[in-house]
This record gives sequence, C-alpha cells and structure tokens, in this order.
Amino acid sequence: MSAQPILIVVSGPSGSGKGTLCQMLRKALPDLVYSISLTTRHPRSNEKNGVDYIFVSRQDFQKHIEAGDFLEWAEVYGNYYGTLRSTVEENLLAGKDVLLELDIQGGQQVKRVFPDAVLIFIMPPSLDELSKRIIGRGTDDAKTINMRLSCAPDELLAAKKYDYVVNNDVIERAVQELLTIIRREKSIREQDKGV
Ligand code: 5GP
Repeated sequence: MSAQPILIVVSGPSGSGKGTLCQMLRKALPDLVYSISLTTRHPRSNEKNGVDYIFVSRQDFQKHIEAGDFLEWAEVYGNYYGTLRSTVEENLLAGKDVLLELDIQGGQQVKRVFPDAVLIFIMPPSLDELSKRIIGRGTDDAKTINMRLSCAPDELLAAKKYDYVVNNDVIERAVQELLTIIRREKSIREQDKGV
C-alpha cells in the first residue's frame, strides 16, 4: 500500500456485527492485511484454522506469552486471544495497512504501544438487537450466549475510549463509514508528512 501505513483496530460487543463489517472492509480494501489472532477457544463449525483464527491449546498460548510473542493478549469470555507482534510489526514496516479485530482490553493495549493506531468501536442499534443477533447466528451454546450478553453493557461503556464510534444500524452504510474514516486518517497522515 502507501508509505504511510495505518494500524486499524475494530472492537465492539459480541453480536455487534464487527466480524461481518471487517470481512466487507477486507473485500473493499484487498491490500489491507488482516492479522489472524491466536485463540484457545474451540473452533465453531464454520471456522477454519489459520483463516479465522490460529487455534491453540492453553499450554501453547502460555508459551507465546512467556516468549513475549504477543503485541497484546487478553482473556475474553473465558478464553484467551492474542495478536502476534511479528505479524503487525513486519507488515507495518513493509508499508502495509493492518486491521485488528480485538476486544476492548486489546484495543487499549494496542493504543499504548501504537498511539497512532485508529480505534473504531462498532455500536449495535440496541441491546435487544444484540441479543437477537447472538442467538440468531446459532454458533454458541446457552451458557456462552449468556456470558457474552452479560458483558455487553460494560463493553458499550468503553466506546468513549475509541477514536470513532460507528453505528451498525444498516451494514452497507456502516461499511461506507468505515471506508470514509480510513481514507480520512490516511490523508491526515499524508498531510502531516508533507506529501
Ligand atoms: P469470538 O470468540 O466471538 O471470535 O471473539 C471474542 C472476542 O475476542 C471478540 O470481541 C473479538 O474481537 C476478540 N478478539 C479476537 N481476537 C482477539 C485478539 O487477538 N486479542 C484480543 N484482545 N481480542 C480478540
């Protein structure tokens, strides 16, 4: 991509639609590098190892923590998730824009290391809608659904720590807003650099 790479972090509660939005973003911006996270969560039936996540045991995850391999990691909904430092640093150094889909703890950790990272929070239309979406996608058992829903009110409060909040009311509109934000942030960086 350009000489001014940008690190984008997308967060939002489970069921906010951030996964679908990130997929649409990646289609619209094929040069954007998506960093595949490591997780100790079990794969869902529609997920592939190395594509959606790198699925690892808790023991392996712990080894990566001890080796200092993670740019950030967090325990989310009872499982561990982490971003490999090497993936992010190597791609940024190569001038490529990088997209991370992280929980709110991960978002804050990344902002501390990369203050220039652009943090975007995906806001669901309502808690009611959120619960319909989580139940409707049919990928989680009742215990997992309840845990995810019970975390949502606190997660929504974290929106104020983000650079941008995008309402995911209509998905096509929301993805256009994401594209506008990215274009804007890239042009700010180019102006700052005097290009
Ligand atoms: P899910 O189990 O629904 O795929 O993801 C659960 C939560 O973990 C989501 O909020 C997702 O954004 C977050 N997540 C995914 N990968 C990472 C990661 O590498 N680090 C952190 N901190 N959160 C992650």
